[in-house]
Amino acid sequence: VSHKPRVLVVEDEPTIAEAIAARLEAEGFAVDQVHDGLAALERAAAWNPELVVLDVMLPGLDGHEVCRRLQADRPVPVLMLTARDDEIDLLVGLGIGADDYMTKPFSPKELVARVRTILRRTAAAAAGDGVVRVGDLVVDGPRMRVSAGQRHLELTATEFQLLATLARSPGRVFTRAQLLDAVHGVAFESYERAIDAHVKNIRHKLEPDPRRPRYVLTVYGVGYKCADA
Ligand code: CA
Repeated sequence: VSHKPRVLVVEDEPTIAEAIAARLEAEGFAVDQVHDGLAALERAAAWNPELVVLDVMLPGLDGHEVCRRLQADRPVPVLMLTARDDEIDLLVGLGIGADDYMTKPFSPKELVARVRTILRRTAAAAAGDGVVRVGDLVVDGPRMRVSAGQRHLELTATEFQLLATLARSPGRVFTRAQLLDAVHGVAFESYERAIDAHVKNIRHKLEPDPRRPRYVLTVYGVGYKCADA
């Protein structure tokens, strides 16, 4: 039972809104769409989306104002859609707090990739003082606790740090040297095999079938990564 990130699409051109929504839904997101600025504020307040895809040119309240009011109410990542490349410089200059910008026309596939990147970045930032969730894997930083579904795991401090590092950036590949660095602060080439031993222990505790890991994956010739939920 994986969590579906909620994405609110705010776009007054129905064909574009529908194309974006359809692609996001196909990629596993929970999507709602509205077609003007005021409706965007109302829906965001009621539905609490995890990201807003926001067109700049909207009837009623424009995208700048919607973004400003969204951030004032409760900060939420925003991917802004613009009609022209040169608009982006203007928008960045205004400092309205969007996380990324895309110029029309764009491919829905590219939009989904941008959405994922923003959500990952946001999750990583939140992880500094909070809880990381990747699918059913929950890494609770402050309490140093890890659970997978209903199972609570007893990890050593090193195993915990290693898993937390991977889980904060799902899908990102870490070399053994990088992981050693994250765990101990200093990387020595000769100790990289120690990471393999830690990963083996983590898998033994975490994975239903350690021989066929689905959380911590080996990237052959490089290192490890946390499976992207
Ligand atoms: Ca528009």
